[in-house]
This record gives sequence, C-alpha cells and structure tokens, in this order.
Amino acid sequence: MAQGPQFVEHARDGDVHVVRIANAPVNTLRTEVRAGLMAGLKAAAGAKAVVIIGSGRNFSAGAEMTEFGKPRVAPSLTDVFDAIEASPVPVVAAIHGNALGGGLELALACHARVAAPGAQVGLPEVKRGFVPGAGGTQRLPRMIGLEALKIIVGGEPVTAEQAVKMGFVDAVVTGDLEKAAVDWARANAGKSFTLARNRQDKIGGYDATAFDAAVKPLLARARGQESPKGCVEAVRAAFTLPFEEGMKVERDQFQRLVAGEQSQALRHIFFGEREAQRVTDLPADTKPLTVNKLVVIGGGTMGGGIAMSAANFGLPVTIVETSEEALQKGLERCAQNWQRSVTSGRMSQAEVDKRKSLLTGSTDFEGTVGQADLVIEAVFENMAVKKEVFARLDKAARPGVVLASNTSTLDIDEIASATARPELVIGMHFFSPANVMRLLENVRGTKTGYPAIATATEIGKRIGKLPVLVGNCDGFVGNRMTGKRGPQVEKLLLEGCLPADIDRVMEAYGMAMGPLATGDLAGLDIGMAVRKARGTVAPIADAVCAQGRFGQKTGKGWYNYDENRKRIPAPEVEAIILDVAEKMQVRRRTIDDQEILERLLLPMVNEGARILEEGVAARAIDIDVIFCNGFGWPAFRGGPMFWADRMGLKAVRDKLAHYAEATGDRNMEPCALIEKLAAEGGSFAKGK
Ligand code: NAD
Repeated sequence: MAQGPQFVEHARDGDVHVVRIANAPVNTLRTEVRAGLMAGLKAAAGAKAVVIIGSGRNFSAGAEMTEFGKPRVAPSLTDVFDAIEASPVPVVAAIHGNALGGGLELALACHARVAAPGAQVGLPEVKRGFVPGAGGTQRLPRMIGLEALKIIVGGEPVTAEQAVKMGFVDAVVTGDLEKAAVDWARANAGKSFTLARNRQDKIGGYDATAFDAAVKPLLARARGQESPKGCVEAVRAAFTLPFEEGMKVERDQFQRLVAGEQSQALRHIFFGEREAQRVTDLPADTKPLTVNKLVVIGGGTMGGGIAMSAANFGLPVTIVETSEEALQKGLERCAQNWQRSVTSGRMSQAEVDKRKSLLTGSTDFEGTVGQADLVIEAVFENMAVKKEVFARLDKAARPGVVLASNTSTLDIDEIASATARPELVIGMHFFSPANVMRLLENVRGTKTGYPAIATATEIGKRIGKLPVLVGNCDGFVGNRMTGKRGPQVEKLLLEGCLPADIDRVMEAYGMAMGPLATGDLAGLDIGMAVRKARGTVAPIADAVCAQGRFGQKTGKGWYNYDENRKRIPAPEVEAIILDVAEKMQVRRRTIDDQEILERLLLPMVNEGARILEEGVAARAIDIDVIFCNGFGWPAFRGGPMFWADRMGLKAVRDKLAHYAEATGDRNMEPCALIEKLAAEGGSFAKGK
C-alpha cells in the first residue's frame, strides 16, 4: 500500500479508494492520523467509493487522550468529518475489533458502516468523565432515537450484530474485512445515502416525559458522577435543536467536563489500571509458567468464586475438598450461580454448559494436585491449617509448580516456610465475590521468585482480573488501609455521630456503601475476633456485638433490617452509643460532614503513605487502583492518594496533625513520607 502521510496508508483497489489507519496499538486518532485521513480522502478523487479501515486488531479506540489539555492542532476530528460528509461518493467505515469513542464517531460520520462479526462499538466517554465530543451525541440519536441514551449515558459497548438491529451499522460482513467492505462499497456506491446529520426520522416529536423516563434508570446508577448528566443534556439537544446548535451544546459539555476534576480522576484510574499491572522490577526475560490446569484447594465461598473465574475464561479447573459432601455443596453453588445468569437472560444455556464442563471436583488431594500447573489454596483462615496444606501441596505438586494462597491476613513467608519451594509460593488475594470482583492483590513474600510473580500476574489477567503486586504485611494494602479507618469510626460515634451520619457522608462522596453498612454485610463478629486477637477494644462496637447484633446475618447490627434487607436506624444502637458516651464522660456535639469525611479518609491516606515508604506498594497509583476496584471507592474520585494529592500534601499534613492531636489517634500523626513531601511541595503522583 502506498505510504501517505505518517500513520495513515491509502491506495486504490480498482474503483474503490481504501484508507487505512495504522497507528499501533489501538489506532487512536492523534493529530497525524487526522491529517492522514484528510490526505487519504483528498486522494480519493475519482473513485467510486471510499473505505476507511483500521490496521492491527482494532478499527480505532478513539481520541488520543494524552493530547487533551494541550493546544489543539488542526485538522480537528470535526474537520475530518466535514470532509467525509462533503465527499461526492459514499465513504464506508469497515469496523473490526473495537470502534470506540472518537473511533465510532468517525464511523458515524461516514455514509455507511459495515463490521466484522463480534466487533464492539460504543461511546465510553462517560466513563472517562466527559461526553463524546465529535458529534456522537448528535449523530447517534438521529440514527436510533432514544436507544442512543443507553449507549451514550451508560457507556457500555454493543456488538456489531446488536448495532445492526439497533440501526447504526448497515451490515455484518464475513471473510476478509477489507475485501468484503470494498465489495459492499462497490455494490452500494450508486445508492443514495442520507448522512446522519441530515436525518429527522428518529428524533421527531420530542416527548420530554418519555425522554426523562428513559434517562431515569441510567442516572440512578450514576450517583455523584457529573458526566452522565452532561451526556443526557447533549443527547436532549439532538432531539430539541438543529444539528449545529446541538453540536455546540455537546462541545460546551465536553470542554466543561474534560477540564473538571472528575474526568481527571477517571483518566488517572483508566491509565493507572494498565500501569498497576506492570511489575516494575520484573526482569524482561522472565517467563510466566504455562498453566493449562488450575487446582483450587477448598470449595467454599472464595474457592468456588475463583474456580468460576477460571472456567469463565476457558481455563480448566478442579476443586479439591475434604469430603464428598463439601465438594458437592461447592460445585452446586457454582452451578446455581451460573444458572442464575441464564434465568436473568445474561447468558445462554450453551455457554453455561461450556463453563460447567471446565469445572470438575475431587476429594483425592494428592492425585489431583499432582496434575496441577498452578494451585490456589482457599481453605480456612488458620495458620496451622494453611501450613499443613502447604506441606502436603509441596510433596504432591510437580517440581516447579507455583503454590498460591488466597489468605487475606496471614504471613506468606510463614506459609512458604512449610514448603521446600518458598520461591514458588505467592499470595493471590482475591476479593469476594471472587467471580465478580476484578481486583487481585498478588502478595510477594521475601523469597517469592520472579517466575512465580510473572505466573500469578499472567494468570490473573487471563481469568479477567486486575492483578496488582503488593508486599507481605498484615492486611496487605487494601485491608491494611481500611483498618485504620476503624478507630475514627468508633471515635466519631462516641463524639456525636450516629451510624447513618457516617454512612451518608461516605455514600454521598460516592462510596458504594458506608463503613457501618459494610460491617453489617460482612459480619461484625469478624472485627470483634480481630480486636480480641490483637488485644484492642472498641467500646461501642464491642457493646453492639455483646447484644448479639452481628450484622445482616443476625438480622441486626449497626442497623435494624426489614424483610427486604433495607437498613433502618436502630434506636437500640443509639441507646448503646449514648450510654457508652455517658460512661466515658464524652460530651457529644454536632460534627459536620467535612470533618467526618476527613477523619475517615485521612488515616487511610497516612497508612497508604507508610505503605509506599515501606515499598509494600510500588507506586501511589497501585493503591488508587486497588481501592477503585476492590473497595467500592468511586473511580470519579480517583482513589485515596489522588484525593490527597488534590488537597495538597501540606494541607494533608496539617489536617492529620490537627486530628491526631484533637482525637488522640496516634495513627493520624503524619508519617515521614508525608512530612517530607509536604516540605518539598511534592505529591504522591510525582513519587516519593
Ligand atoms: P469457607 O469456609 O467458605 O471455605 C473454606 C473451604 O475450605 C471449606 O469448604 C472447607 O471444607 C475447605 N477446606 C478446609 N480444609 C481443607 C483441606 N485441607 N483441603 C481441602 N479443602 C479444605 O472460607 P472462605 O470464605 O472461602 O475463605 C477461604 C480463604 O479465603 C481464607 O483464607 C480467607 O481468609 C480468604 N478470603 C476470604 C474472603 C471472604 O470475603 N470470604 C476474601 C478474601 C480472602
């Protein structure tokens, strides 16, 4: 193919001009690509039709986000789209892999679209905190009406097949995509196409009531996030205003949102998720071990979820249990879980059957472990039990096989000491429910070797997880930081809050669930057992437990619960709080929301900084990614370390020192790293 300007190639195929985006790896529409598209379109003069296609695995993943916030360089995407729409012959987008964001907007500006089977098309801008900014919110509603809301406000892609049904992809074509697209363009070149911008048939008769009804469930999911609302307003403009005026509404929303803190936070997490999976010190020549067969020890809550994840991604897996009864119970729970997806219409029976066939069970420990390429242990959380299991695993597993533990609190080094292969022992800390949660903390022990680290990282990615490598310490990263919030929860209750005040502030911030409601869900006896083991007390929490209030499983905890498990403020708990406060001679006061927020988040930030000091996490972004993927932290807030950086570390230091003094919580005394960065005017993002 003749080389045009860099990043775009174009050539004639008979009477059809083919323009190919060649900007590996995902064909973002950077300046050179936009210029190349312009040149390609110009060179198409005299052709009967034009096909725009992507090289590599994608059509285009959209705008080049690293160009955001920098001076704009012409031509803009809108200039390119104007050139497409001005073309005297039809321009056909040929989509494979992904056409997302600006990539789909490019396709929507074309006269027609054809796609390879299974291609994904979508407008995920809302998830990066802004709105499609090159006409997506104006063209898509003109093609599919109100259905555009789901794609633009929801941000989830659909398949090419679904897009054909919805009406914004013309055809799914099989065989070689370029050849099929050229044939399609040639066959349809004589047809008259109505450009999306000129269509009226899907946007006539705007009905505000119907529009708002369609919007309501989509915004209900958005909680405190701004971009879904911006998307709604831009789409509304497609129904109520002429094209050019609607474009102006879209542009205003785009510029406002992209400059805002939420979008910066969302992009921080988006890029961070890739970064956090990269093990910084892994030698380039380290090879992960080949895993074709996973064995999971223990088919309880976690073991079952881990096994499901493997089968969900096509990896054969066997659960080992101690008795036939426990095994059948575990397998049955997985089967029921999958079956629910069929009942709810999320999965076909054939797909579920395929997954089920990849999951087997056994009570023959030695025989099964002997066949494993990787073992993940998920038995009871008890060191003696774990050590016994690992000693047996070491004898039964083939040499070189990695032995991982799903422990959430225990010392990986001590577990590894039960084996003769500590270099192959690693923590793989999944989160519950393990078949759903993306986060995976891979825990490196003192002796864990690079092949084990590479294997745990690789297998984590393969089974749909987001693996982040952390160091071996009590609670690892997520639970260790969250644990530091507990003393402040107790103090806030003592000084003036009720459980609902604390949860309301955290949920208004965007957390999936406040800390007290979370406690009720997990079971308050867990915290009580930890306090007992550590010899610490929490007078209010202990008094709540003493009344048999262990959370949802006992029907009552920090809250009472109705038959639908809806929380109701508990007068009994208020009485306990007032009683303890009186006994401790604490005069209760009104505590404002900002103080509640700071006293809950700052101790976590302080602990996060200690974690960085100790090297337990390699980068601040790792911590933010952990919280946004495993601890219900809203991605549009960017995670605890991002939050602290935004506040400024000098302010963080001053506030920590203030609260340490005011509340007597020594954990809140600013750690050395915060002192240092505050003095230097540094930030977590820039590094220690
Ligand atoms: P669970 O009690 O639901 O399951 C444990 C299972 O292990 C039981 O079915 C038991 O029969 C089986 N088992 C015990 N000894 C065995 C042996 N020698 N061989 C084979 N099977 C054996 O517990 P769980 O909640 O799934 O927790 C398992 C592990 O995961 C623990 O280390 C826990 O700390 C960790 N973890 C739990 C969560 C959570 O939220 N539940 C989250 C992360 C990590």
